Amino acid sequence: MDHFQYHGRVLHAEAVSLPDLAEAVGTPFYVYSSATLRRHYQVFTAALAGLDALTCFAVKANGNLAVIATLARQGAGADVVSGGELESALAAGVPAERIVFSGVGKSARELKAALAADILQINVESVPEMEALSCIACSVGTTARVALRINPDIDAHTHAKITTGVREAKFGIEWTAAHQVYARAAALPGLQPVGIAVHIGSQLTEIEPFAAAFQRLRDLIVMLRRDGHTITTLDLGGGLGVPYGDEEGPIPGPDAYAAVIRRAVGDLGCRLILEPGRLLVANAGLLVTRVLYIKEGATRTFVIVDAGMNDLMRPAMYGAHHAVVPVVNPEVNDKPMVADVVGPICETSDTFASGCTLPPLRAGDLLAIRTAGAYGSSMASFYNARPLCPEVLVADSTHAVVRERIPWQALLSWQRLPAWLAPAADEGQGQADGR
Ligand code: PLP
Repeated sequence: MDHFQYHGRVLHAEAVSLPDLAEAVGTPFYVYSSATLRRHYQVFTAALAGLDALTCFAVKANGNLAVIATLARQGAGADVVSGGELESALAAGVPAERIVFSGVGKSARELKAALAADILQINVESVPEMEALSCIACSVGTTARVALRINPDIDAHTHAKITTGVREAKFGIEWTAAHQVYARAAALPGLQPVGIAVHIGSQLTEIEPFAAAFQRLRDLIVMLRRDGHTITTLDLGGGLGVPYGDEEGPIPGPDAYAAVIRRAVGDLGCRLILEPGRLLVANAGLLVTRVLYIKEGATRTFVIVDAGMNDLMRPAMYGAHHAVVPVVNPEVNDKPMVADVVGPICETSDTFASGCTLPPLRAGDLLAIRTAGAYGSSMASFYNARPLCPEVLVADSTHAVVRERIPWQALLSWQRLPAWLAPAADEGQGQADGR
């Protein structure tokens, strides 16, 4: 459930009218609902009630400080995958003891920063990374709490590009090698192995792959304990899917997911860490865009909007479906139009929806692209020298711009012409004079 509803004909974010917001901040823009963020966090954590569980929001899904802070105020920790995300989580007020650091390629600088911040744990994904971390921890005279991310070789039955738990994937340590690698971690100076981590993919719409992966972890923990290792934490990753509107059946929710957790690992006496990203933020965000032109093509009608794939990459990258809805519903039920909703970018993949049924639209009308709170702004780019669009957080009837529009000129200010390409002073003068 989200808090983007029509009041009369006009779509609102909580009590804020989206046309008013568009007037105030300009289009395109992302808008997030605080109430939806809080609700999603509460529903997720309520499902885990009774378990010793820490929910660490996967910051990669949405790195906006205000979004992270909204969840942190509810008690969320953070799962980060870079030094930048670590700094963002700390800046948003997430206590270090609630931060876990995942990722297959952490640099020495990032590992040092994680140790300096004294975060809860670092999830290591390879023996070389483990050895590097051991050296760094010894050099700064500290001990790193580590969990081994295991690759359980379980197919998540999700999009190939976001499947992470199969053998062919770059992620994690092959589960059959885990007991050797755990022993190695225990023997390395500067490391304190505390547990096991897993993450098999994102946007899972079936519960069985979770069940299979968690059962594999259970077997592994039993074996590691038999070998004399201490396992106190179990990081189960993220991955629970959300409805985008094109799924075949109902998607399992937090209750079904929690039931699988209880059954598979609930009695192991481990502290559980969960890393949901999409589930917490996807339905808490919309991308609002304005129609620039209606173009009648040879075979289809195009609604050309001012948001592009640089703002929301998912349709171009994964062929992902996002519902596109009018911000203001028409007064009368005029004959709908069937059109492709496309952006202005010079790529055919810059298409938000194909064959979409919409009310008759005109230039200047507003559209909302739903379920855009996860992997939307966090994957945005300056492609085509376009600005990064603003982000707005709504709380009841108030709003705040929580990231300004970042103009494309910001790109120019970081670029330099090398001396051999810089216009000579007299050449520049000649051009200015029209010579
Ligand atoms: N944890 C890890 C290690 C991830 O790589 C990801 C995303 O890929 C997540 C958590 C969050 O996944 P999701 O947004 O699907 O919950």
